[in-house]
Amino acid sequence: MIKVAVNGYGTIGKRVADAIKQQNDMELVGVSKTRPSYEAMIAIRKGYPLFVPHQSEDEFEKRGIKVAGDINALFEKADIIVDATPGGIGVKYKEQYSKLGKKAIFQGGEKANVADISFSALCNYDEGIDKKYIRVVSCNTTGLLRVLCTINGLAGLERVRATIVRRGADPKETGKGPINSLDLDPVTQPSHHAADVKTVLKDLDIYTTAIIAPTTLMHMHSLEVRTKRDVTKEEVLDTLRNTSRIVVIPLTAEIEGTAEILEVTRDLGRIRGDLYEVAVFEGSIDVRQNLINLVYAVHQESIVVPENIDAIRASMGYKDSKELTDRNLGIMRGELL
Ligand code: NAD
Repeated sequence: MIKVAVNGYGTIGKRVADAIKQQNDMELVGVSKTRPSYEAMIAIRKGYPLFVPHQSEDEFEKRGIKVAGDINALFEKADIIVDATPGGIGVKYKEQYSKLGKKAIFQGGEKANVADISFSALCNYDEGIDKKYIRVVSCNTTGLLRVLCTINGLAGLERVRATIVRRGADPKETGKGPINSLDLDPVTQPSHHAADVKTVLKDLDIYTTAIIAPTTLMHMHSLEVRTKRDVTKEEVLDTLRNTSRIVVIPLTAEIEGTAEILEVTRDLGRIRGDLYEVAVFEGSIDVRQNLINLVYAVHQESIVVPENIDAIRASMGYKDSKELTDRNLGIMRGELL
């Protein structure tokens, strides 16, 4: 059993913790919280041992939240730590992980140099094997890389242009916006996503533009890919349908956008209504010789969960974990419906 600790039980951490519980070769040794919030109460209700900063233990106990120990004790119990703290905090913890000789998985909010490699399972699982520190790229970059590495396998990549419409905040983030504007992100483009994709596909010619939209549900990407050889629409569709972690939204479903996609995941009984897969709109796929255009949606809160599970196994030396992860998490391929 791989003993895993989750440092930072927030949007990503809680989902990774639940996913670890679904793996029969992993044990969740505990999770951490810095504040005695409702999320700490949920961790306790789920039976997850909760570790908090030493100086905050009394504050948690006063609120009736039972603490298993201080965060350092959590790290000591683990073979590997999934750091799901807010961007820029993980790098500060790295020294502690390193002193204890522990492996760690970082998230996309950290700079690429926090880890030995940036990781996207469909692109570079093998590079992650036995690495001490792995950074799972951000939600947008994971979406981009899944689709790009799939098309790369089909026909090679010559040039990529992408427009990213980002959600303004996660559903629980009531203090974030915009609430009535479409904002350039950043004002001086390109967005950082092109450089982030290049941490994995190093020589790719890619330019990305990003706009933040007043929605909390999902991101949407419009992608134009010039491939090395000509392809047909049927080839592209077949390849997308046959790739795990990508689903095609069939035209027959008459789904117009992100609200209806997440209605489907709730109707299907997915945990929290999450969608681990990239969802490509069939009606958006246009192929002319070596030019592919398509639009897809990315569920920012959950897309990186399978990659975190794979990154744990890769770091622990497993040769390939993608199929096992997919089976354990009930990941779909083919069509959404
Ligand atoms: P979050 O704010 O929802 O959760 C972070 C958690 O870390 C919270 O529970 C917070 O209490 C805890 N925390 C804060 N400071 C801490 C500290 N010093 N020590 C221990 N715990 C601490 O954030 P999130 O959205 O889950 O993001 C976590 C990471 O995942 C970031 O790097 C982010 O960029 C990345 N990420 C986020 C999303 C997303 O859409 N939310 C998607 C992909 C990747």
